[in-house]
Amino acid sequence: MHILVVEDEKRLAMLLRRVLLEERHTVDMANDGNKGYELAASGTYDLVILDIMLPGMDGIAICREMRDDGVETPVLMLTARSAIEDRVAGLNVGADDYLVKPFAMEELLARVNALLRRRDRGLEVSPELHVGDLALDLVRHEVRRGGRIIELTAKEFALLEFLMRHPGQVLTRTQITDHVWRYDLESLSNVVDTYIHYLRDKVDRGFPRRLIRTVRGVGYKIEA
Ligand code: CA
Repeated sequence: MHILVVEDEKRLAMLLRRVLLEERHTVDMANDGNKGYELAASGTYDLVILDIMLPGMDGIAICREMRDDGVETPVLMLTARSAIEDRVAGLNVGADDYLVKPFAMEELLARVNALLRRRDRGLEVSPELHVGDLALDLVRHEVRRGGRIIELTAKEFALLEFLMRHPGQVLTRTQITDHVWRYDLESLSNVVDTYIHYLRDKVDRGFPRRLIRTVRGVGYKIEA
């Protein structure tokens, strides 16, 4: 596949290029927003990986302009900020998914492959994740189960999002801390247990079917 990477951080850009080339994709690079827009607007790519903070046009503006121009290429946004507003802004202007920096390359490839598959099947892109009757809306930053809205803190939301992006898959405490807590120093495994407990209290309590499961000695998974 032909992928455009718009990223001004040299080291990350080079790493992305290498990883994508290893996956046998063809890769074009742009290290500023104006060049990125010029290339993306051609509409000849299968996927655009787009950083938000860029010299020149920013990623949000590029994505908005692309969509206004009628370019339907899937867009994976990269954001350095964990601010909800950034992700929501990205999805609102037509991005298909986002990744918060820093991220694991395997996570990036999983997202890239999911977007390419979805595009191949011509499926309508949904900014919602579903497991059973549980729905997580990435745009509204809202979680619902059985028609009821569940209030979550930012960390609880991030943890649930990570579980729901890997339904049926056992995630170890280390994988969870790496993705949800990242650089926090107090990311001990019992932080994960504590937050899983909070989540269960909000997401599973009072429902006949439990979605969040403990896999003894390994970690956790979510499954309908
Ligand atoms: Ca940047």
